[in-house]
Amino acid sequence: AAKAEGRNNYRFFLPSMHERVKERKTIEEDLRNALEQDQLELYYQPKIDCRTERVVGAEALVRWHHPDRGLILPGEFISVAEECGLINRLGAWVLDRACRQTQIWRETTLPGLRIAVNLSPAQFQDAELVTSVTQIMDQTLLPDGTLELEITESILMNNPEKAVSTLNELKGLGVRIAIDDFGTGYSSLNYLKRFPVSSIKIDRSFVNDIHVDMDDKAIVDAVIGLGHSLNLEVVAEGVEEIEQHEYLRDKGCDFIQGFLFAKPLPADVFEKWVTERHATVPARITVES
Ligand code: C2E
Ligand code: MG
Ligand code: MG
Ligand code: MG
Repeated sequence: AAKAEGRNNYRFFLPSMHERVKERKTIEEDLRNALEQDQLELYYQPKIDCRTERVVGAEALVRWHHPDRGLILPGEFISVAEECGLINRLGAWVLDRACRQTQIWRETTLPGLRIAVNLSPAQFQDAELVTSVTQIMDQTLLPDGTLELEITESILMNNPEKAVSTLNELKGLGVRIAIDDFGTGYSSLNYLKRFPVSSIKIDRSFVNDIHVDMDDKAIVDAVIGLGHSLNLEVVAEGVEEIEQHEYLRDKGCDFIQGFLFAKPLPADVFEKWVTERHATVPARITVES
């Protein structure tokens, strides 16, 4: 009986196809306004040197301040932006904003800061990508290695030949490439060799139980070993517990991000957080490479 009841409840709450389509249409219309009316904002999550615990950079993560619905996370609108063709405009805005902010920080309070920006598959396929990155690099004069673009494994598998040439063009501009959510896609160890990638980010799902689960330990150990033997930087995301940090540090992981240190923060809060954190240590707060 409980089961039947549960099923009825479920059916009761399941939105109809029609409602879901309507919901997406609304998001789509609102998103067009968001771009025009300056409702998007970038938050910045610190990337920390696993050993020294110093901030080396930030990952830019987009947020939407919806006039009626408040703060909306990218999980709710990036896929809509991709489907309705708004992702390239949104992505161009993110890239521009992140690079300009980084340039300002590097010249003022946060010299040496690196910045990572997420690219969705549609952006990577956009013929204009290399042109717009070239323009931004010309305008901001960010030194080689300062900008990192985070892509996912699926991007590489769709059209490997095209991907190699795009990545090589980006590399030629001094841009680094990171594989985000590493291990969750159709990983092929082969592509790490073929593609000009500079770092891999171990997905949060492997980091979660790293201090207790033998399988996750084994996977993370292997990824760190693989990354290092291919001369890649290894980053772990989603570090929430001290034990996770300690484990990753002992295994030689290079960088970590996670709520243990900081959530993604608005620009002014991020700047304050980093400068206060490093107030008691030597002035040059970051390492460059
Ligand atoms: P991602 O690139 O893998 O980013 C990491 C996500 O994990 C972020 O969620 C971040 O807030 C969250 N996170 C960081 N540390 C922790 C932690 O310790 N615990 C937990 N539970 N979560 C943590 P967010 O900001 O909601 O972004 C979700 C995804 O949306 C991103 O995943 C990325 O794929 C996409 N995204 C975000 N900003 C952009 C953007 O500007 N452009 C594109 N194309 N995609 C974006
Ligand atoms: Mg990312
Ligand atoms: Mg990720
Ligand atoms: Mg992701």
